[in-house]
Amino acid sequence: MLINTRRGSFFFLGAVLTDLELEPDSPSTSSHCGTCTACLDACPTRAFPEPFVLDATKCISYLTIELRSDIPVEHRESVGNWLYGCDVCQDVCPWNRNAGSRAPAFPHDPDLAWIDPAELLGLDADAFRVRFKKTSFWRNRRTGLLRNAAIVLGNIGDERSLPALEKALADPEDVIRNAAQWAIDHIRHRTSSVKSGLPSAPSD
Ligand code: SF4
Ligand code: SF4
Repeated sequence: MLINTRRGSFFFLGAVLTDLELEPDSPSTSSHCGTCTACLDACPTRAFPEPFVLDATKCISYLTIELRSDIPVEHRESVGNWLYGCDVCQDVCPWNRNAGSRAPAFPHDPDLAWIDPAELLGLDADAFRVRFKKTSFWRNRRTGLLRNAAIVLGNIGDERSLPALEKALADPEDVIRNAAQWAIDHIRHRTSSVKSGLPSAPSD
């Protein structure tokens, strides 16, 4: 995390390619965390084994955006209803409380404010390209986003989600099929537990 004491921690990291001779800055050595452990305590997957160390393989942002394969079973419930990424560690950072207005150059897109995960599962490659090519969702492509949609449905869906998930069992991508099967099993387990009055426990 890069912390600016006036602007908080929400930044895009970027690079400028130039042939100008530039005097390098000295590396930043300051720490602004003090005794705070808010991000470590709030992380849903306990991805910080110790202060200033992140195990990216447990981070929901990595799992839902960067990972190209199956999300490990032990982290699927922690994904909750997050379709794409996680900002909990930044949301809780006290340096963001008074950071002022965020990124006016990147206005909120109302078309992306709510996306129905069941509807996502119905998008073929062409429909996905038309809908998401110009958005940040393009980054993890159809396979990653539909995988995430299935896992979200497994976590928050009910029997009404089953038709979309069952259709996804025939998807050409095994990552999507695997996530859909997990979600179906999870929903069936949860709904049968509710009907029988037994406490719901993870099936995996
Ligand atoms: S983005 Fe979320 S999952 Fe990743 S380290 Fe931060 S709080 Fe944990
Ligand atoms: S929440 Fe912010 S200030 Fe606190 S430990 Fe994490 S990065 Fe540092």
